Parts: sequence; structure tokens; C-alpha cells
Amino acid sequence: MDHRELLGDAIKEECGVVGVYTPGEDVANTTFFSLFALQHRGQESAGIAVSDGEKVRMHKDMGLVNQVFTPEVLATLKGDMAVGHNRYSTTGASVLRNAQPVFCQSLVGEIAVAHNGNLINAVDLREKMTAEGEHFDTTSDSEVLARIIVKNMHNGPVEAVREVMRLCKGAFSVVVLTPNMLLGFRDPYGIRPLCVGKLGEKGYLISSESCAFGPVGGKFECDLKPGEIAIVNREGLTIEHGVDSPREAMCLFEFIYFARPDSRMFGTGLYGARLRMGERLAAEHPVEADIVVPVPDSGIPAALGYSKATGIPFREGMTKSRYIHRTFIQPDQRMREIGVRMKLTPLEDHLKGKRVILVDDSIVRGTTTKQLVKMLFESGALEVHVRITAPPIVYPCFYGIDMASKGELAAAKMTIPELTEYIGCTSLGYLSVEGAQQAVDGSTEGFCTACFTGKYPLPIPVGLQKHAFDDPPHVGEIATVSAGQGQLFES
Ligand code: SF4
Repeated sequence: MDHRELLGDAIKEECGVVGVYTPGEDVANTTFFSLFALQHRGQESAGIAVSDGEKVRMHKDMGLVNQVFTPEVLATLKGDMAVGHNRYSTTGASVLRNAQPVFCQSLVGEIAVAHNGNLINAVDLREKMTAEGEHFDTTSDSEVLARIIVKNMHNGPVEAVREVMRLCKGAFSVVVLTPNMLLGFRDPYGIRPLCVGKLGEKGYLISSESCAFGPVGGKFECDLKPGEIAIVNREGLTIEHGVDSPREAMCLFEFIYFARPDSRMFGTGLYGARLRMGERLAAEHPVEADIVVPVPDSGIPAALGYSKATGIPFREGMTKSRYIHRTFIQPDQRMREIGVRMKLTPLEDHLKGKRVILVDDSIVRGTTTKQLVKMLFESGALEVHVRITAPPIVYPCFYGIDMASKGELAAAKMTIPELTEYIGCTSLGYLSVEGAQQAVDGSTEGFCTACFTGKYPLPIPVGLQKHAFDDPPHVGEIATVSAGQGQLFES
């Protein structure tokens, strides 16, 4: 668990998806380990569906992957093709109902659909389909996507997927399991990641991130391009063009924070991208200081980059406890603060009398950074210069990331001097949007930067926009909005 979650100050990825095929071998255990490697993308529910060539069986429940899947449960999931899903979700009675994969009956038999992302036209689609007599079991946008596949299955699974790509707007990286086929596809903008790997001689993996391949002996093959479909059946793997891509708009935040540092996407390793972000941060916001201190673990590569670029020594300034978990979250602010202190403990010997550069990946509400700065000063730091690899977050995300509404985002409410004062640091510097993009692959093309710039690659319906600014719907839940459906605001 991230230290920011203890203060309710985190940005949360919504989901991780995985697909596995190993001909003739049971894949439930492999799927389990791959899902386990994607645990950082969602910690509230997990599910696996397995096909034995005739029947698709599924198990899903609330909890972490290793809580949901005991050896006994895995033993019941027989078959050589599978999909899996991790979800972060809201609290409340509807949560298990909305856990994935979504399981439906279709013309070709049972299908299971696992989705990472968020549809921005789910309300419209659902209303139209309901008027046509479609029945929905959940409030999830992923079920809308699954029902479109079912509805179009008379044209075969690949055409049904193409219809999803034509009708659905927003972010969707999806894996689908039919009794005899595993499919993976990305939306035409490629907002959320999805990649393909090889497993042994004849097996294949599809995953949100390549970090799911290594633990099961898989090898990264390629990123799926926006609008592409990976088709795995008993003949092997083919990758087909699904629909045209207007332009690539891969989430820049995946590179800054969400994805694991050992994953590869967009042709680069994430650890290296974060290291380069630290180097650029040093160039954009230099300061005289004695040590560079990361906020563990996410700030480590960028702090190393900052240190490398400036020659200022890298020092651990705090240790992280692995044993403070969600159960520690208390409704009371004081208890939450104690939780953060137990999660991150200062190393006073490293900090005392030092001018410190504190490197972290992002500031959401600012509450966590404020507390960490206070902690460093109380440990004897003379100065604390905060350096952040995410540019200021000023706008909400509609594409699958659960962050604060605009009114809660520190950088949307305060200027840099005001935020510096609020946080209590000596100075504050954010990496520029261009700097973050160029640190990934040297260019400024191909990214979604909407939460930093307000330039949404797909126009957001006004109703959804209003709703998110006032009271954000949790991603994956369909917002019950009526105003302005079909109207659009800036593109
Ligand atoms: S708005 Fe921000 S978090 Fe959302 S997809 Fe775009 S870059 Fe990623």
C-alpha cells in the first residue's frame, strides 16, 4: 500500500488485466502469479476465468489476489486458457457485483471480459441498449462493453470486438475469453497499456504490464498498438488491425507513477524513464543542497537521476514499513497521520543538519507531502526542497484513474508559492509536461496529458464533466448524470 493511501491522498489505477494460454496445461496457477505481479493496479477485488475448450469457469471475490485464490480454489479452475482481473473499487454493497471478469452467455458459449480503463459514453450506450431490451446486472461500464460483444457475436468474436472499438469511447484495454479463443485489444487512442508476451514454445500472455511475464517465465514480445487486436487460439497468435487510430494518447501517468518500474511500455523501461525524469527535474529546478532523498519506493529512480545529474549525494532519508496495510486506515485524521509515520520512518542521522532535496512522483491533495516535509524538519533537516516528477495535477481524469475532484487537487487550488507555504517546504519544483514526456522517449507526441493540461484527447460529455468536478463518480461506475448527454466540451 502506498503511504499516500493512508491519508486518502493517493491516485489509484483502476485495474490490471491478464490473459494466458498454454496449450494442454492448466493455466490457473500461471494466471494467479501474473495477476499477483499486477497487484499494484488494483487491490480490492480479483477474478480469474478459465476455459477448458468447452466451458468457461470463473471465480472472483473481494480481496487481494492471494486472499481470493487459495490452492483449493485454483484447483477447481481447469483449462488451458484464462483471463484475470485486479480491481480497485469503491466501498459499498455494489462492489462484489462490479468485480471482474464480467461473465456473460453468448452465441459461442460463456464469455469472460476483463477491462482496464473507463468508458466516457457508457451512459449513452447503456440507455440505448436498455431501450433495445438489453438487461444489465451491474452498474459497471465494463458490462456495457461485454454486452456489445455478446450482441455482435453472430459475426464472430473478432468482429464483435471491432464493434466495441467503433461504439465505445474512452479508455479500454481489454481481454476476452471465449471457450476457444483469447483476445486482447486497446482502444483507438491506446490510453491504457496492453502488451503481448510469449510463454514457452507455444504459449502466450497478454497483460496490462510486462512485469506480469517474468515471474511465470514469459518473454515480452510487443505492445499492442492503439486499435489493434491480439487473437490467440489453438493455432497460435495473430495481431490484427481493429479500427483506425486517430492518434496515440498513452497515459503519461503510467510512466510517472502507476506502472511498475520493471515494466516496459512505449518502447522503454519504466525505471529508466523515471531516472531520466529525475535528471530533467534537476535541469529544470536546480538547487544547492547536501543530499537527495527519495520518498520510497516510487521516488527512488527519480532521486537517483537527480543525484546523478547534480552530483549531490543520494541518501535514504526514511525507511518504509511493509506491514502497514489498508486495515490501518482510520477515519480520524490524527490516526491516519500516525499511520503515515509508521509507514515512513525518518532516518535522523542522515537528515540532521542537512539541506535536503526530497524527490517524489506526485502531489494530489498535498496532505502527504506536507506531513513528510514536517517530519524531515523535525528530524533536523535545515532546508527541504521538494521536487516532483509529475507536473501539477490540475484536472480530473476520465480515462480510468481515480483521483481527487478538481476542488481537492492542491495544484488546482493554489499557486506554487501558496502551495510551497501550505506544504511548509523551502522550495517546490515540478517537472514540466514536456520534460516528463521527453524523459520517456525523447518526444512530446503520443501521450495523454489531460490531467496536467486540460487537453483531453477525447471530448468529455458535459454531464460527466460536471459530475466529476462536483462529486466524482468512481471510475468504472456509471455516473448517473442526465445533463448534457451527447453534448461535448473541449477536445
Ligand atoms: S488524464 Fe492523466 S491520469 Fe488520466 S489518462 Fe490522461 S494522463 Fe493519464
